[in-house]
Amino acid sequence: MHVFQHPEFDQHEQVVFGSDTASGLQAIIAIHNTHRGPALGGLRIYPYASEDDALTDVLRLSRGMTYKSALANLPLGGGKAVIIADPRRHKTPALLEAMGRLVDSLGGHYITAEDSGSDEADMQVIARRTAHVVGLRRTANESGDPSPFTARGVFCALRCAVRHGLGRSQLDGVRVAIQGVGHVGAHLARELHAAGAQLVISDVNGPVVSRLAEELGAKVLPPQAIFDADVDVFAPCALGAVIDEKVCERLQAKVVAGAANNQLASPAAGQRLHERGILYAPDYVANAGGVIEVAWQRRDDYRRDAVMAHIDRIEATLDEIFQRARRERTRPEEVADRIAEERFKPQAHCAA
Ligand code: NAD
Repeated sequence: MHVFQHPEFDQHEQVVFGSDTASGLQAIIAIHNTHRGPALGGLRIYPYASEDDALTDVLRLSRGMTYKSALANLPLGGGKAVIIADPRRHKTPALLEAMGRLVDSLGGHYITAEDSGSDEADMQVIARRTAHVVGLRRTANESGDPSPFTARGVFCALRCAVRHGLGRSQLDGVRVAIQGVGHVGAHLARELHAAGAQLVISDVNGPVVSRLAEELGAKVLPPQAIFDADVDVFAPCALGAVIDEKVCERLQAKVVAGAANNQLASPAAGQRLHERGILYAPDYVANAGGVIEVAWQRRDDYRRDAVMAHIDRIEATLDEIFQRARRERTRPEEVADRIAEERFKPQAHCAA
């Protein structure tokens, strides 16, 4: 396994492998960039098929966090951690405490938080061994679950994309297909419903999707059919890499805006969307609401109204990205990458 020659290695500052025999911990922490501040990113616990798969994931996700935090104007860099383990079978207090010691050994260069396979209760255990952890509910105001904040940001992004892509200033009557109605997707569905959107939803978890459909009067489609739905907006809120070149051809929507990380399977898929006139809201801009909220938890002046105002600024950021993309006749994700890089590369001015 080569790190420096790895295809996902992109000038990462540190890649730390940690193990603890007693608890069975096998973990990797990747710190991509800390020019704007310490590297913050979630802890993913997943039974990776190989160490190489785990390395690929942590390198890619940590880089994504640098871009996300820079575009959200947070004084943070990008990092991520993975534990190679099945969270349902191998997640023990001893394992999490060992992870806490590993995080602590980096002296605050990396700050951990929830991600898939880990939750607030796990962060409480990790916090026994390190102070470099967020996502803990210290007061009634704060969240131990970032998903409602993420959903709020996606809602703002979707509204902006509808304005630019469909020329409609209201969501009333706009038809939206949501793929995945888990934590973020369900919150998003409720906000869209309240704004008058017509929903089509799908999820591999049958009972979850039926309950939500009944609550919101939404139409349900089987998972494979969601790409073909006759809608205005497609909102991927389940998995990454769902939009490949074949899916691009199937989409009826004129706008793609959702919560999933790394929605585009390849740059070619982004190019194909662009050629077909489908407006794509870059995922790491749209789904920054959760990291914005946990970043505020590091401040002494946490206020919910200030957090929500910061999340709502996603709409203005995206507005600027869409306008520049149109002026420069390029894709929104290219403009977003460029703005982020201007902000986190060493010569950049830090506007946090
Ligand atoms: P979740 O696990 O709660 O929800 C995902 C849902 O997708 C589940 O209900 C699952 O059954 C469903 N699903 C899985 N495969 C599917 C398929 N093929 N078709 C339809 N549905 C399918 O996760 P979440 O926290 O809601 O996050 C959703 C996405 O947003 C993830 O990609 C995550 O990385 C990203 N994201 C989440 C947050 C957050 O705050 N939770 C922040 C940023 C990005």
